Amino acid sequence: EGSIVLGKTNMDEFAMGSSTENSGFKPTKNPIDISRVPGGSSGGSTAAVAAGMAPWAVGSDTGGSIRQPAAFCGVVGFKPTYGAVSRYGLIAMASSLDQIGPITQTVKDAQTVFPYMLGRDKMDATSINIEKNTRDIDPENLKIGIVKEFLEDGLDERLKEKVLEALDVYRGMGASIKEISLPHAPHGLSVYYIIMPSEVSSNLARYDGIRYGKQLDKEEGQDLIGKYLKIRGNNLGEEVKRRVMLGTYTLSAGYYDAYYLKAQKVRQLINQDFLEAFKEVDVIAMPTTPTPPFKFGEKSDDPLQMYLSDVYTVGANLTGMPAISIPVGTIEEDDKKLPAGMQLIAPHKYDFKLLDIAELYEKEITG
Ligand code: GLN
Repeated sequence: EGSIVLGKTNMDEFAMGSSTENSGFKPTKNPIDISRVPGGSSGGSTAAVAAGMAPWAVGSDTGGSIRQPAAFCGVVGFKPTYGAVSRYGLIAMASSLDQIGPITQTVKDAQTVFPYMLGRDKMDATSINIEKNTRDIDPENLKIGIVKEFLEDGLDERLKEKVLEALDVYRGMGASIKEISLPHAPHGLSVYYIIMPSEVSSNLARYDGIRYGKQLDKEEGQDLIGKYLKIRGNNLGEEVKRRVMLGTYTLSAGYYDAYYLKAQKVRQLINQDFLEAFKEVDVIAMPTTPTPPFKFGEKSDDPLQMYLSDVYTVGANLTGMPAISIPVGTIEEDDKKLPAGMQLIAPHKYDFKLLDIAELYEKEITG
């Protein structure tokens, strides 16, 4: 469409991570406070937009990698409906969850670029067309659901306050805010960390140095299996190996039913919870992240702590629903103003309506 590509940005290896500390090129810093991570995995894209190096960037979002860094860097991150943007050319992480979307400074910019990214592509069999029409949203008729389960344990109190203040802004415009329940949603993180590695172990099997990936020096070649093991052992990073191993385990005979199959069932229950809630509300609101941006090294030695960063974002991937993170003010810490992000989620294919609803807040705040 005539856009100029400025460059290629840093990310966690194979998009696995929440801080860019898993990058093969060393971490990206958060432009708001360089002692802190920019989030991940699309940390480079997001830092570039937040620092004004580029007006917008693309990211991929399998469990939050567009929205979580956007929340950490104070910009807008939009994950469209599953299939709305073709994934032709994207390296697959977890194929039932992966989606491409824009990272922008404003909702208005997301509305500008998104229509050019959309649509059915014969090179991606999962791609779909979504309705492009936008309608003026009347805030007086707008119903926003706030998720009861996600305002409880584990959420930073200061972030909670910011989200509630943002909802007050909508209330001031005439919207009604309703507390809703997504009873299975708190299991989303466990479900994600079973389904995602299962798909990862399958998708990454192709990086064997024969068809894809870096080869061995000739003299190192043993038998074929030995060669695969050596190549994969040499070239894949710690986190990537961890997920390949977890996923191989959850798919193996004897464990498949207990893990993968069960996770698929709970995934359906989570989807039903969302569909049920959307009978009563137009969008669902929640924090994007449980904490403000954390410092380098704070979570990198503890994978489980790192995974907890994704607790609010994975639901939209498991259900395939569109979701956006918008900046809702800042939290003072160490003499820095750390960004807070609020996430809005809409039903499938309501991407344009979701953007319109997010823009209402932006207009009200910026005037
Ligand atoms: N942080 C999540 C993970 O590590 C999300 C990754 C992503 O969306 N690519 O899996």
